[in-house]
Amino acid sequence: MRRKRLFLSRFYIISSYFNFCREKMTSAIAGILEKALSEEGVLSHGELVQLLSIEDEAELQMLFAAACRMKERYIGHVVSLRGLIEISNICARNCFYCGIRSGNFHVKRFEMSREEILSAAALALKFNYGSVVIQGGERSSEEFTVFIEDVIRRIKKLGNIGITLSLGEQSLETYQRWFAAGAHRYLLRIETSDPELYASLHPADHSWVKRRRCLDFLRQTGFQLGTGTMSALPGQTIEQMAHDVEFFRQADADMIGMGPYLPHLQTPLGAQYPDYDREEKLRTALKMIAVTRLYLKDVNIASTTALQALAPDGRERGLLAGANVIMPNIGEVCYRPGYQLYENKPCLDENSAESREKLLSSLAAIGEKIADGWGDSPHFRRRKK
Ligand code: SAH
Repeated sequence: MRRKRLFLSRFYIISSYFNFCREKMTSAIAGILEKALSEEGVLSHGELVQLLSIEDEAELQMLFAAACRMKERYIGHVVSLRGLIEISNICARNCFYCGIRSGNFHVKRFEMSREEILSAAALALKFNYGSVVIQGGERSSEEFTVFIEDVIRRIKKLGNIGITLSLGEQSLETYQRWFAAGAHRYLLRIETSDPELYASLHPADHSWVKRRRCLDFLRQTGFQLGTGTMSALPGQTIEQMAHDVEFFRQADADMIGMGPYLPHLQTPLGAQYPDYDREEKLRTALKMIAVTRLYLKDVNIASTTALQALAPDGRERGLLAGANVIMPNIGEVCYRPGYQLYENKPCLDENSAESREKLLSSLAAIGEKIADGWGDSPHFRRRKK
């Protein structure tokens, strides 16, 4: 009897100690979130790390709710849709993590014809997507540059539609030619803000400094600047992810496209680290979105396909963590298996109209309205004033 009482009182002391610590932690997180939401408050590196370290479910919900408040303040309760056209998997680069790396000889290479790209862009107009994203492997021949220039001009003739490019590292001159042809946004992820981690994920002839310089070229050219990183990479620390968020601010990015790293077994990195915890990856990616929203406030943040690969409602959860852009795939279904950057990429066999129906109803279910127009980043508009 006595032992039982002793046990119970010990149990009581320990659990109230834990409750005390938990409340203390929660109030520390609440303080950081309050600071983030106040107009002047710029979070310190340590505070970013603290937010990115959250594991407690109640604290996570507090973080996501704060990020949504920030989104509503600067952007509204709306989402911009962009039609994603993955034009080709031919790529000169050999990144250790990417399924379409040049060294992956299992991949059947494809390139969409001019007509196919134009009919995808016409579909985007029909679906009322305000803009298209033209993404593909990196190539830098004159022939490719001219092809893209021509495609941009022809898309602009179809109607009032914005064009984002995501075609890798190019010369200043190429960026200028594509901008002059009518593209106005460019997405080039820095992948990680840490040059050493970057070096460990790429062959020796891929240079972080060169990639960083490309962001300057894009800014100089006049593009709305998009960048981003992968999260939950093998060996990546929370400190490095906090630094990524600070990097976005230093680069004065207008839009951010981030996603969790997912293994592709036909790559050196994927073969080395094939296993992962889905929930953990998703949580990390959602925290990155929320913290980026709190820190950068008025930028466009994409809720990317990689989130959907982790959970069927991954992209919707991204919006509820502070993202405001979704890029539904509008390319021909037959090409999709060829554009597998990672395993289990979703919507491989679902046509663009079906995905659109599903997406519209899931967006309505979480109360998101579709934004009108091209969906330019408010940060860009403010920067231009
Ligand atoms: N050639 C373009 C587009 C690359 S693909 C460019 O260099 O910008 C678009 C993005 O997919 C990459 O920037 C990278 O962040 C992401 N990606 C590639 N492999 C991935 C993987 N295994 N898991 C998650 N994201 C990946």
